[in-house]
Amino acid sequence: MKVSWPAGTAVVEGSFAEEIRRRCGENVFLCVQCRTCASGCPTRRFMDGSPTELMRLAQLGLAERCLQGNAVWYCASCQTCTTRCPQGIDIARAIDAIRIIAQERDDLEIDTRGQKSLNRIWMAMLKYMGRAYELGLMGLLNLVSLRPFKDFGLGMRMIVRGKISFLPSIRRPLAMIRLFKAAKENRP
Ligand code: SF4
Ligand code: SF4
Repeated sequence: MKVSWPAGTAVVEGSFAEEIRRRCGENVFLCVQCRTCASGCPTRRFMDGSPTELMRLAQLGLAERCLQGNAVWYCASCQTCTTRCPQGIDIARAIDAIRIIAQERDDLEIDTRGQKSLNRIWMAMLKYMGRAYELGLMGLLNLVSLRPFKDFGLGMRMIVRGKISFLPSIRRPLAMIRLFKAAKENRP
């Protein structure tokens, strides 16, 4: 799909910035590096970068650095940055697009501390169960990270105290499967 950019914007055809724009409509070149987004980000302290740095890396076309850091995975999509950006960039949306690109790139070695697997398991649960199943999420994540008993004690304590349920609660899976199918078909 051909992307139209504001006059005066320097864009390399097929660039990473163009790919982000194609997927979500956000123009990373509007970022003036004011750091408002980074300063208000609640998960910034867990990131090896920041939303500001992600915008800069995208501007510079440094896709691999953007995709291989953990910032996209620690972003909680809370939209604090989006509401504060003086340039009106929907940063959370742009990061969503970067996360999807990273998810599609199986060739990348990504420092996610399991975040990529968590994302996949989480989305599969939403698709087939219609809602989160915390015990299954925790167990599957530990299985794929080859530490099956890592949170066993914690999980048991949470079940006993009624914080999480032992069995999943499945809600309208067919409707969710249809929703995921429609989202996939309408993906840019
Ligand atoms: S708040 Fe907006 S303009 Fe400022 S650094 Fe973040 S993305 Fe760039
Ligand atoms: S949407 Fe992501 S990057 Fe933006 S403030 Fe929230 S956690 Fe930070």
